[in-house]
Amino acid sequence: MATKTISIEEARARVLAEAAPLSVEARLLVEALGAVLAEEIIAPHSVPPFDNSAMDGFAVRAADTVDASAESPADLLLGETIPAGHVAAHSLGAGEAAKIMTGAPLPDGADAVVQSESAGEKGDRVLIWEAVKPGKNIRRAGEDVVQGEKVLGAGSVLGPAEIGLAASMGFPTVQVHRQPRVAIISTGSELIEVDQPLGPGQIRNSNSYSLRAQCQQLGIEATALGIVPDDYEATRRLVEQGLGYDVLLTSGGVSVGEFDFVKDIQDELGVERRLWGVAMKPGKPLAFGVRGSTLVFGLPGNPVSAMVSFELFVRPALLRLMGYRKTTRPSYRAIIAEDVANTDGRVYVVRVRAWREDGSWHVSSTGAQGSGILRSMVGANGLAFVPGGPRGVRAGEGVEFLLLREDLQEP
Ligand code: AMP
Ligand code: MG
Repeated sequence: MATKTISIEEARARVLAEAAPLSVEARLLVEALGAVLAEEIIAPHSVPPFDNSAMDGFAVRAADTVDASAESPADLLLGETIPAGHVAAHSLGAGEAAKIMTGAPLPDGADAVVQSESAGEKGDRVLIWEAVKPGKNIRRAGEDVVQGEKVLGAGSVLGPAEIGLAASMGFPTVQVHRQPRVAIISTGSELIEVDQPLGPGQIRNSNSYSLRAQCQQLGIEATALGIVPDDYEATRRLVEQGLGYDVLLTSGGVSVGEFDFVKDIQDELGVERRLWGVAMKPGKPLAFGVRGSTLVFGLPGNPVSAMVSFELFVRPALLRLMGYRKTTRPSYRAIIAEDVANTDGRVYVVRVRAWREDGSWHVSSTGAQGSGILRSMVGANGLAFVPGGPRGVRAGEGVEFLLLREDLQEP
């Protein structure tokens, strides 16, 4: 089974079939952005915990203000001042008022707050120029959250609001699915590190940088295990080390060239192959398998192929390991700006610039689409899918695309 070229959807399904959410750990709330909650958060108390003032003003008994107006204000005895964080020392009697700040607990006996703008202080009296109804300018205990209520469910993705809510509930740590440990290996005798001078026949290793950055966008700090030349033994040793991680990404050496032995090494080390070859370009030679609980991706070496394969297959797997249910980017139908010929049997994955105009999505190729041309990945905020067929698509026709970035949407 696992050696026949298959569709993108089928390949993604085979990858996701091997990816289950990782174990659960306690994480500090300040480090939990983007993590997926593995517990329910039940409110241990209400929010707000007590009735409090929504305004700076005067706490009153509404009944004392029924006839108040600018012409004939209610004249009340002004007692204490209640700042936020303080509890009133006295309860409020008939004909009395207390000065109160936003967020301060309402004194017993008061049932409304008159905002400062509708009152005037005069020594130990305050004149109220406005009749208020009971409850006016009061935030009720439990108005946001009622004690005992479920405020966040297991499976919630923790964004800034969820983290704020957990903090307001008194959770300094939360139970979340742990992050995958990811290793990256770059294969190729032609590769040198980014800070090395170029010798004859050499190129710089860019894949481990782009792949690491793609992991970082998910909050994952991958470990780059380095460059290995096209030497069977050296590659086997490094791949063996990489199999100690949750996810191993190799780039290069997975095609059909004489020195492409990443697949053989996977076999020798007991990686069970789930697929080899996806009917797309760029990115056809993808070899995916599992050993124990490790997901092993043999990504193609061409810089664009490696990034596109990460986007379409590795990213969904990493999200699933983190506990995400939704693992795909938003996808839309767009009008394409130019002809894209594709008479191949493979789906052409085109790097595009996508923008909204007149209520529709539009996409336009970012330039030369060779699988080694990283320049056209720069400035791309989408990947469009042009199916193979008699001709491809013509300008003005519709294509599906994935929206990769929310920025970069200028027409
Ligand atoms: P391969 O799949 O090993 O045949 O590599 C395909 C192409 O990608 C070759 O032109 C390689 O030089 C290039 N390549 C492989 N690995 C990397 C890398 N880590 N960074 C940049 N280019 C690479
Ligand atoms: Mg190579």
